[in-house]
Amino acid sequence: MLPFARVTIIGLGLIGSSIARAVRERMPTVRLTGHDADSDVRAVADRMGLCDDIADNAGAAVTDADLVILCVPVGAMGAVAAEIAADLPADAVISDVGSCKAEVARALSEALPGATIVPAHPVAGTEQSGPEAGFASLFQGRWCIVTPIEGGDPVAAERVAEFWRRLGSDVETMAPEHHDRVLAVTSHLPHLIAYTIVGTADDLAEVTQSEVIKFSAGGFRDFTRIAASDPTMWRDVFLTNREAVLEMLQRFSEDLSQLQRAIRWGDGDALFEHFARTRAVRRSIVEQGQDDAAPDFGRTHG
Ligand code: NAP
Repeated sequence: MLPFARVTIIGLGLIGSSIARAVRERMPTVRLTGHDADSDVRAVADRMGLCDDIADNAGAAVTDADLVILCVPVGAMGAVAAEIAADLPADAVISDVGSCKAEVARALSEALPGATIVPAHPVAGTEQSGPEAGFASLFQGRWCIVTPIEGGDPVAAERVAEFWRRLGSDVETMAPEHHDRVLAVTSHLPHLIAYTIVGTADDLAEVTQSEVIKFSAGGFRDFTRIAASDPTMWRDVFLTNREAVLEMLQRFSEDLSQLQRAIRWGDGDALFEHFARTRAVRRSIVEQGQDDAAPDFGRTHG
C-alpha cells in the first residue's frame, strides 16, 4: 500500500519539481497538487503537467492533502507553514526538504501547533534551480535523512521514510541537531569554501578573467560548479545553520593554518601524509557508491 494518496508540493523549483516527476513515475496513482509563490513558475509547472492541479495560493493547495511537502528556501519555511495553517487537514502529515533541520523543525512547530510534522532532507541536488532543472531520477540511490521531532509521531515518520524509499532513496534517521552538524561538514563548509575561492580569483586584479577561465581545468573549474549554486538557498542555509557552520569553520581554519605552516617550513612529510589521508577519503566515497570512479568526473579528454 502506498504511504500517501494525495500529495501537495509547495515550491516547484529543482527539488519540488523533481519530487513531482518521481512521484508520477513511481507512484502514478497518487494525486498531486502543486503551488509556487512565483506565477511564472506556476505557469511553467502547469504547461509541463507536473501536477494534477496547480493552486494559486498555498492554503487552497493543501485542503485535501494527506502529505504536504514544503520545497521552498529554508528562510521561507515558517511563513509558508503559517500560510497553510488554517487549511491543513487535521490528519495530514507535513514535511519539508530543507537543507538545515533544527531551525526548520522549530519554525514548523511554532507555525503549526498540534500538526504532525516530519522534517526530512534529500541529500541530492544540482547547482541549478527552477522547475525546468528537475528530473525524476534525482533521488535514485541518494540518501534522504528523516529528522523526526522530539515527541513526534513515529508512524508518520515511517510513512515519510517509505515515501522516500519509493522515490529511490536510501533513508537514514537522525536528530535534527545531529543532521545540522554532519551537513555543516559535508555540504555547507565545502560550499562556503567554493564561494570564497571563486570570489577571491574574481577579485585578483593581476589575474585576468580570461586567464582564470582559460586555465580553470587546473582545479578551479570544479569549485565554480559548486559556487554557481542558488544564492537565495545558500544565504538561508548559512543564516539558519549558523552555529554548526561557525564551529566547523573554526576547525577548518586551524587545519588550514597547519598546512600553511608546513608549506612555510618546507615540511614535505606533513603535506604528503595529509594528502595521502585525503586521497583515501575519496576512495571510500567511490567504494560506497556515492560517486563515479571515472577520472576527472568522467569528463572526456583528447
Ligand atoms: P529553487 O529551485 O529555487 O525552488 C524554490 C521555489 O520555491 C522557487 O520557485 C521559489 O520561487 C519558491 N518559493 C520561494 N518562496 C516561496 C513561498 N513563500 N511560497 C511558495 N513558493 C516559494 O530551490 P530548490 O533548489 O528546489 O530548493 C528548495 C529547498 O530544497 C530548499 O529549502 C533547499 O535548502 C532544499 N534542498 C536543495 C537542494 C539543492 O541542491 N538545490 C538539495 C536538497 C535540499 P521564487 O523563484 O519566486 O523565489
